[in-house]
Amino acid sequence: MARTRTPPEVDRVAASQRAVAARRERASLKRDVATRVITPQDLLRRAWAHPESPAGHMRVTEFLTAIPAIGEGKRDRILAHLAISPVKKLGGLGARQRVVLERYLDDRWPEPEPREGRSRLVVLAGPTAVGKGTVAAYVKEHHPEIMLSVSATTRAPRPGEVDGEHYYFVDDAEFDRMVADGELLEHATVHNAFRYGTPRAPIDTALAAGRTVLLEIDLQGARQVRAAAPDASLVFLLPPSWDELVDRLVGRGTEDDEERARRLRTARVELASQGEFDYRVVNDTVAHAAAEVAALAQ
Ligand code: 5GP
Repeated sequence: MARTRTPPEVDRVAASQRAVAARRERASLKRDVATRVITPQDLLRRAWAHPESPAGHMRVTEFLTAIPAIGEGKRDRILAHLAISPVKKLGGLGARQRVVLERYLDDRWPEPEPREGRSRLVVLAGPTAVGKGTVAAYVKEHHPEIMLSVSATTRAPRPGEVDGEHYYFVDDAEFDRMVADGELLEHATVHNAFRYGTPRAPIDTALAAGRTVLLEIDLQGARQVRAAAPDASLVFLLPPSWDELVDRLVGRGTEDDEERARRLRTARVELASQGEFDYRVVNDTVAHAAAEVAALAQ
């Protein structure tokens, strides 16, 4: 019987399915870099830890053009400058190439570095629908030593929400008074709808007693806290991947195309603000993210 070099049909089908899956995973990783859910350096670390993974199999050309602000022309100039062949895969880069590529990225897009001398005031923020509220509630339940700040809001209570426990539910006049009397550390109108603010006094009391205080607020609020208390620790909660955030934002599919596009645009803008934060925590599981936030808060 003549020997054939062609693999049996079943093997070829399986191999092509694997190739499709790998391509899909690489595409998903590129979206994560493009939307800043992961840093380019994160992707390199994955590729180098597991050269046989989808990250390791990504071509250096694909990797560079996934980075916002790098087009094809710039990509080719970078590769020429770093003396890296465009056919190289990330997992196959040599030691010298890894060093020069990482240095190039660190110079242009430095990763946020935890700063020394942070206070016990911890702010948890992140893009809409990333799950900040769930993580904060988990910290509250499992770390009673950490005080979760209770905000004031002008929105109405939802079923099950208790005044003074979930929020202080106030009307516009009372909110105006709190602002005028300087009672709020920060305040903002969220989603163009209702006003939310962080009462200052309970925080000052808890901090003075040596307790850690956690604020779960929106990005505008986080920026105001940074300005008012520069030594606060700002934590940015990230989704495990861009695709997962998309699912959470538009998963139910009840909104029209315009609303869907608007939410995705907002998420991209929100993700782009993570450079202003001291720490990044990935919300892969609530328990894990909460443990990381609690550890940062010690
Ligand atoms: P919800 O109405 O669903 O409870 O909260 C809506 C949004 O308001 C969330 O993104 C939450 O982080 C934000 N938020 C809650 N309290 C405050 C606050 O005191 N200040 C600011 N700036 N945002 C808040």
